[in-house]
Formats: sequence, structure tokens, C-alpha cells
Amino acid sequence: RTGAITPVARIAPQMVGGVTVENVTLHNVGEVERLGLKIGDKVTITRRGDVIPKIIENLGPANQKDLENRFHANGDEFSIQLKQEQIIIPQLCPACERELVIDGAFLRCISLECEARTNRAITYWCRSLEMDGIGEKLVELLLDKGLISSIADLYSLEHHQISSLERMGDKSANNVIEELNKTKNLSLSKFLHALGMERIGPEVASVFAQHFITMEAILKWVDSGEIEQVTQIDGIGEKVAEIFKLGIQKRRQSIDDLMELIGINDEDSKHSGSLDNQTFCITGSHSRGRKEIALAIKNAGGKVVGSVSKNLDYLVAGEKAGSKLITAEGLGITIMTETELFEKIKPQKSSTSKTLFEF
Ligand SMILES: [Zn+2]
Repeated sequence: RTGAITPVARIAPQMVGGVTVENVTLHNVGEVERLGLKIGDKVTITRRGDVIPKIIENLGPANQKDLENRFHANGDEFSIQLKQEQIIIPQLCPACERELVIDGAFLRCISLECEARTNRAITYWCRSLEMDGIGEKLVELLLDKGLISSIADLYSLEHHQISSLERMGDKSANNVIEELNKTKNLSLSKFLHALGMERIGPEVASVFAQHFITMEAILKWVDSGEIEQVTQIDGIGEKVAEIFKLGIQKRRQSIDDLMELIGINDEDSKHSGSLDNQTFCITGSHSRGRKEIALAIKNAGGKVVGSVSKNLDYLVAGEKAGSKLITAEGLGITIMTETELFEKIKPQKSSTSKTLFEF
């Protein structure tokens, strides 16, 4: 979705928590440099829960002995001649062979026409709009058969085109058409989120939508507005404002096409939801950023305050919560964790796509 290329390290088989690991993520190109990795190095890996294992430490060149008595998951013995080599950073996109660009720690394919990105962008669209039965495999098949080449093309698909695909019958085709029809009318915030712009998750999309109210107003701002118009919004910094502007510019054709096919409803500017008329204070460290948590609270109708007083309804306390936690306990204020907060917000489904962010 963002065109970032994620390097994966192949390691000699290693048992971690009862599982044989041979692939570990390196997150981004910057990580390779940060760890000073070379091919043939010995490394420390960690695996937490179901997360993909990662390298946390480079122990320098390995020796042949380190590779002894290692077995693949199927029991075959691992055997390889150890060598020391520099890691060569690829210059071209593995999917479309266009030139890659370095963007901070990331290596990216910035072409929106890249097959890998088109597939991801369409899949992201379908997932963020919760379309059942339209997953990555189907999107890939539709792209391969030339039935679609953009998000907008989804809305021109015909029943017989879908039902003629492998493992798709009449019923599945009906379902796909039905799911697509359900998304022919979207709120502006859902539309913005589903476009899959980098850093524009559901909370941020909702903030932009509530500020601009209409898609036309956003396009007008992108064409001739100032960045400052947007950085005035609480929670929106210059970087995100610029990413948003650029993201819309890059997707302009796609947005114009979609606006012809689906209705984008003006955003209701009033924040309202499961947290109406409740005040929250956030303290300690959380898995989400504090701004993101505050936006989620505001989007659900709640109010965020900076200090603890007897008028406070809830203190959202994370790890290493300090004096605010003590004060709140003294005042008998309800303490909740980040997880409990998002459980409370859940009916609005405002945080479901955190895991899709890396697309
Ligand atoms: Zn590419």
C-alpha cells in the first residue's frame, strides 16, 4: 500500500518457542544499516507471540560451527558453505522493476501503477470497508485476468465476469456484487481511510473529514490551499498534513473516477458516539501513540483533558503511570487500560485497521 519494501533475512534454522524459524523480518532498509548486517553474520533473534521474529542484535561474523546440527522444519539437515558478503540494497522494485527511492529508513516503490501496490491498494480498500469475501487472492485473480486495474474498476464488474473465475460460482459472484453495492455510499471519513494513504488511519481520516466536511473542499485545499489551514487542527502536524496533501494529489485520477461511481456523503461535523459527555485523561505509555488515543476518544464523542480532577470520568493509564495515577486513585476515579478504552469505543470500529497499516 505504501510501496515500502520490507527486507527479510534468511537465517540458519533455529528453534524458537517450539517453532523452526528460517525467516526473520528486518522491518526496513534502515534496520539493515542500523544493525550493520552482512551476509554470514551471527545474530540474536526474538519472537513475541505470533509476531514475525526479528533480529535484535548483530554478533558479528559467524563460524562454520554455528551452522552445525541445524534442521529444517521437515527434519532435513541444513547445510551451507558460510560466506561473508555485503548486503546489496536493490535499486529496482521486485514487482514492477521501476527505480526505488530511499525515504528515511524506507526503500519504496513510488509508482502507483506498480502491480504489487495496485493489488495491495485494492485489497486495502476492500478490507477497510469490511467487504466479506473479497480478499487478496480474488483481487489478484481479477488483476491477472485483466478484469480490473484500479479500485474504481471494481464497481464496473459484472456478474458473469466474476462467476467465470476459478472457484467462483453464481453464489460467490452474487455475494461480491452485493458487497460492492454496500459500499456505493460512503461517509467522507471512510472514503479517505479506504484510499490507504500512508499514516492516514481511521482516526486521522476522521479528523480530516470533520474539518473539511466535503470531498470537494479537500480537493480545493489540495489545489490551492495552504498547509497552515490544516495544521491548525488539533492533532495534525505538518508532516501528516503534507503526506495527506501528496497522497490525494497522487490518487487524484483514482478519486475522480471513484467520485463518478460512488456517493461520498458529507461528514457529520458533530463528534458523537459511545463516549458522549465523558472526560478522559491519558497517562503512562501505551501501544498506540497518545495523539492517536486522544483522537479516538474525541471521534467517539469524548473529551480529553490534561489533568486529573474530581470532574474527570476516566484515567487511561498505561505502563509507568506516575503521579496522575496516584491522584486519580485518591479521588476514586475509574482507571482503565488502553484495551478497555478501545473495547468501549469498539462499536464504532474506529481502530480495526491498525494491523493493515503496513500494507
Ligand atoms: Zn513497483
